[in-house]
Amino acid sequence: MVKYKRILLKLSGESLMGEKQYGIDETRLGEYAQQIKEIHELGVQIGIVIGGGNIFRGLTGASKGFDRVKGDQMGMLATVINSLALSSALGSVGVKSRVLTAVRMEPIGEFYNKWKAIETLEAGEVAIFSAGTGNPFFTTDTGSSLRGIEIEADVMLKGTRVDGIYTADPEKDKTATKFKEITYDEIYTRGLKVMDLTATTMCKENNLPIVVFDMDTVGNLKKVIEGEDIGTLVHN
Ligand code: UDP
Repeated sequence: MVKYKRILLKLSGESLMGEKQYGIDETRLGEYAQQIKEIHELGVQIGIVIGGGNIFRGLTGASKGFDRVKGDQMGMLATVINSLALSSALGSVGVKSRVLTAVRMEPIGEFYNKWKAIETLEAGEVAIFSAGTGNPFFTTDTGSSLRGIEIEADVMLKGTRVDGIYTADPEKDKTATKFKEITYDEIYTRGLKVMDLTATTMCKENNLPIVVFDMDTVGNLKKVIEGEDIGTLVHN
């Protein structure tokens, strides 16, 4: 039995680097595709947003002298590169997918609209939403909240390299403890850096629960879908 029928899976671009310093690690990409195939076989409708941090981030660019808007546009293009890579990897394991883009760029991807996205999901194909929101000054976390709300997903699954939300950064503070669940409000009051505030607020205001979990451990995505108690659930 699956706990969620329609999901929005957010993958970070940075995780796609695997052991590398830049770009795409084919092993990690293949593992992601395999994990997605596992839940696709369970009949889950899957929308995906993937970040671009393994290639370019607008804010980092701006700190090096790039124009912020152009830098963000470069970041959005980076997410398109990752989306194409993921779509290709899914194809290699026999899962059909369609890349939709937030800005027009046919024939690289089809221009996004909600109904095309839902048609894709109902046809049993994976929908990959690329180019974030299409606007500078946003992140792919906000892009995933937006697309998750639009496609009426049951949950947003935020795959990271950490296995949930902690009281402090567990990679820096050994005394940090993990939350099994937490409210959006507590994220604000504790000042936890789970996602940017715009993304968190969109989920809160539209009642889209989030599960933060470790996607880099193979098999975890299926566990979350089957309702196993891993990661942290964020709710109102
Ligand atoms: N970006 C943007 N608008 C969006 C989504 C993304 O301008 O709606 C740009 C932004 O520059 C960001 C980059 O794309 O730094 C890559 O996305 P993000 O940093 O969210 O990727 P991740 O950290 O998940 O790899």
